[in-house]
Amino acid sequence: MHILVISDIHANLMALDAVIQDAGVVDGVWCLGDIVGYGPDPNECITRVRQLPGLVCVLGNHDAAMIDQIDLAAFNEDARLSIERLGPTLSEESREFLQQLPEAKVCDGITLVHGSPRNPVWEYILDTATAKRCFKSLATPYGFIGHTHVPVVFQLAKPEGKVQIQLLQSGDKLQLDGPAMLNPGSVGQPRDHNPYASYALFDTQEKTWENHRVFYDVLKVQRRIIEAKLPIKHALRLAEGW
Ligand code: ZN
Repeated sequence: MHILVISDIHANLMALDAVIQDAGVVDGVWCLGDIVGYGPDPNECITRVRQLPGLVCVLGNHDAAMIDQIDLAAFNEDARLSIERLGPTLSEESREFLQQLPEAKVCDGITLVHGSPRNPVWEYILDTATAKRCFKSLATPYGFIGHTHVPVVFQLAKPEGKVQIQLLQSGDKLQLDGPAMLNPGSVGQPRDHNPYASYALFDTQEKTWENHRVFYDVLKVQRRIIEAKLPIKHALRLAEGW
């Protein structure tokens, strides 16, 4: 099966639509959380995600905050302002959709979480030391993670137990053959200094993972952010990918 793997859409509908179009026909979509937060179009993004074929989706920290499952004090000020401003605009259907999302899911023998296998909603895996500790909590050979907004793979070399990190560029294709945790990057707010929307295609039989980047109209989304009276920082960062 050809699976589109996406994460951290962050209410950026233009980026999400560009990814869906660029990925083409797929057998399923695995979404690693944070559909909402930061961006201007949370309801529209949830509606779009719900319509995707073979959808499996897990809960992100911003999703949880939007439905009052996480104390807003845990967020930085700009992130908090977006949630406070747009939380009340969530439709009943959107709210119900977020409420039923699990924190973790196993699909085809792969663990799907937003953060990490040991702390599914909150922990960032940014370095090999953290990844090494998280491999101990990974009950499946592969884990797909989001949250950091950086397309990356952590591979565990056996028997030494050394973890290697590789940042992924558009078009990079990996053949998986040992324990690995993979991040498709962020659809709606990339943070690797490349503003293009990021996603991955995973083949469940061949065990291949391909990273892709796609252009979208950043300027239009920046205008939407300003119209929605969200922090200007959320608009500025989209143009530079930070
Ligand atoms: Zn995020």
